[in-house]
Amino acid sequence: MVIKSFKTITPQVTYLIKKKLWAQVLVALFLGLLLGVFLGPEVGIVEKDTSGIITTWLSIPAHLFLKIIQMIIVPLIFASIIRGLLSAGTVEQLRTMGISVALYFVVTTIIALGIGILVATIIMPGSFIDSASMLESLDIKETEQLVENVEFSFMDVPEQIIGLIPSNPLTSFMSGEMLSIIIFALFVAVAMISLPKKKSEPISDILESVQDVTMKVVSWAMRLAPFAAFGLMADIVSKVGLDALVGLGAYMSTVVIGLFMMMLVYIIIIRVFARRPILSTLKIMKDPLLLAFSTSSSAAVMPVSLKTAEEKMKVKPAVSQFVIPLGATINMNGTALYQIVAVFFLAQLFNIELSPTTIILIAVTALMASIGAPSAPGAGIVILSSILLAAGVPVIGIVLLLGVDRILDMTRTMVNVGGDLTACLLFDKRIKAPKLPPDEKNIQ
Ligand code: ASP
Repeated sequence: MVIKSFKTITPQVTYLIKKKLWAQVLVALFLGLLLGVFLGPEVGIVEKDTSGIITTWLSIPAHLFLKIIQMIIVPLIFASIIRGLLSAGTVEQLRTMGISVALYFVVTTIIALGIGILVATIIMPGSFIDSASMLESLDIKETEQLVENVEFSFMDVPEQIIGLIPSNPLTSFMSGEMLSIIIFALFVAVAMISLPKKKSEPISDILESVQDVTMKVVSWAMRLAPFAAFGLMADIVSKVGLDALVGLGAYMSTVVIGLFMMMLVYIIIIRVFARRPILSTLKIMKDPLLLAFSTSSSAAVMPVSLKTAEEKMKVKPAVSQFVIPLGATINMNGTALYQIVAVFFLAQLFNIELSPTTIILIAVTALMASIGAPSAPGAGIVILSSILLAAGVPVIGIVLLLGVDRILDMTRTMVNVGGDLTACLLFDKRIKAPKLPPDEKNIQ
């Protein structure tokens, strides 16, 4: 009986693994986990140095994957945003969409922060650990490197806002400052929309080609994704070790529970406001979500989210091409939620009382930090130092979190990407732009 059902299942599994990216990534993650445990300190068969060399080689595909995406992300974001905005049709429609999308991003981030505060206060992850022994067992000594990251303060915000307008867009392109690039794209798009079609059409055609070419490169990079997932997983597990993962279990569970609740919020939005079926929508979302999980970079997943939204979810390009690139850059609900839990966890660990005013200050800083954080692996924890400073929590605490951060990064990136796709579905329902064939998208 068992053998029979095994025989009937095997061809399906083989088919999935051959054909479906998400199945390949899942298998790769699992195999990477096994190898990571085998190479890690608990099993102890492989020397630390040798396992370091093996995992460095195994993580080559992951680095190549991220490099290829980084290589094309700037032109892709620039072209996608302008084309997305152009499809809004008129400046008036553009303004309405821009304001409502920005408002939506802020509201969902506030919900994420609220969930973070709720779970961290109820579960109190910091009270599960004895801070002295934790610091000792994780061998915390170095503080200098962290202090370097702590230049941001709440008072710098006005200057940073002014700094967002690039005085030389080429410099922003070269250094990959996404927010400045987006703002430049906004200016260009609004100017193009205000001009007669004949004048803006040549640029629009070039941008369409740029988008197609960069998406082609992305499709090549995708072939590396399973290998990237395998190597990264093996690397993380072998370095972090299962012991450290268990020691910080309460903190990690709190973040994961919060992120799960945020996913539930998305499900409600998808069902109630976007009026889409839950199961089939989640099924469509799984490729970008799994990719987010394995790469920890919403920027890397952006092209795939764009494709999924347009080809599988049938979202109007006017919406997807605006919401996805913008969301990948500024909408990071998962990151905001994680940061607030991390601050509460460390405050509890160091017995620091957080007053209501401090909590509001932390929330506002986390809101802005999640908007400004680059969509790259580990960005959340780097920015976390600024929030800890605002909260008066010792920044050294980050060292405690570093070891397990990659795993949380994988999970929060999934939520970040889920948030962008949910926003896409919602605005697809709300915005009444006509679905145009690709060559007519900009010509309204
Ligand atoms: N890795 C996240 C992202 O790319 C950012 C973070 O570190 O929280 O969305």
